[in-house]
Amino acid sequence: MTQKEKKNKIAKVVKLLKKQYPEAICSLEYEGDGYKLLVMGRLSAQCTDARVNIVCRELFKKYPTARDLANGDITEIENIIKPCGLYKMKAQSIKDSSNLLHYKYNDVVPNDMDTLLTFPGVGRKIANLLLGDLYSMPAIVADTHCMRIAGRLGMYPEGQKNPEKTEKILSRLIEPKEQSDFCHRMVLFGREFCTARSPKCDTCPIKIICKNEITVKKLGVERLDECLDTVWRVFSEFEVPIFSQEGAKTYKDGIEATRKNGDITFYAALHGGKVIGVLGMRENNHIGYFYIDSKYHGLGIATDLFNLMKNDTDAKHITVNAMKYGVPVYTHLGFVPTENEKTVNGVTFTPMEYSEK
Ligand code: SF4
Repeated sequence: MTQKEKKNKIAKVVKLLKKQYPEAICSLEYEGDGYKLLVMGRLSAQCTDARVNIVCRELFKKYPTARDLANGDITEIENIIKPCGLYKMKAQSIKDSSNLLHYKYNDVVPNDMDTLLTFPGVGRKIANLLLGDLYSMPAIVADTHCMRIAGRLGMYPEGQKNPEKTEKILSRLIEPKEQSDFCHRMVLFGREFCTARSPKCDTCPIKIICKNEITVKKLGVERLDECLDTVWRVFSEFEVPIFSQEGAKTYKDGIEATRKNGDITFYAALHGGKVIGVLGMRENNHIGYFYIDSKYHGLGIATDLFNLMKNDTDAKHITVNAMKYGVPVYTHLGFVPTENEKTVNGVTFTPMEYSEK
């Protein structure tokens, strides 16, 4: 994707998420108070916002101002914030930050990145949160939701976990005035739809945009190893026990043996160049193997692969592997998982026999 294409794509996502979440509210309940957001931002590191909200009710009752917290007893502060984790470090840094805020900045949170970074425990993520929320300045808060979703949308290689890189890339792609609210919406969206483990692609309000990234094609021999990697990853994910296939001791050996036999054609769905779904088709006996990376369930990939295969072969019979482990080929193709044969558009699907060792 070119930079221009990425910009267009993210602009569409911004628009759709605005519609989905008209109120882009920060999930930390800081009541418009900069001191509270500074403290809560720090406490939210490796802790959920919900827990921070609960803990802070007691904390702010006892220390309603930065001056109170700056002069608070460190052991008492530690005890209150303990449920947020890393409590010794966090207690010290919120006390020191409050000290700086009150005595050096007269209780006004500074509005520039460099000064904010001098506050103990404040990194770019918290600084951006403060700038965006308190001063409506352009700011990308590269938290875990933001990084995961933007990766899935193809803004950078998926799995990137570098907040600074993410911030840099997204700040060039998203309109400055949209940035702060967009990040709040990403949190809401990440919790409701694009979750880390099982994204709800079926009902996702931006699935069309996400799916646009997916291309489906027949792969040449040079990419078969990539397909086999995906096949193996999917099987590992579902903890499929060792299969006895082609005399192999492990399933991986089985698919390797299949590859070496060279009688299998692979049809693949690619997302950002990475294979995310595979249909392997044996030309001599019409056994098909479907594998869809679970992150991409619900995008109709199985149907696309199936249609491509149908146009390309005269297959009348497909044996579906791993049915017992929930690889939801049947569901994708419009019927409920079953151990019985089913026929769709003239092609019969049979669950594959397997043996466990
Ligand atoms: S379609 Fe699925 S992976 Fe894509 S953004 Fe939506 S929930 Fe996330």
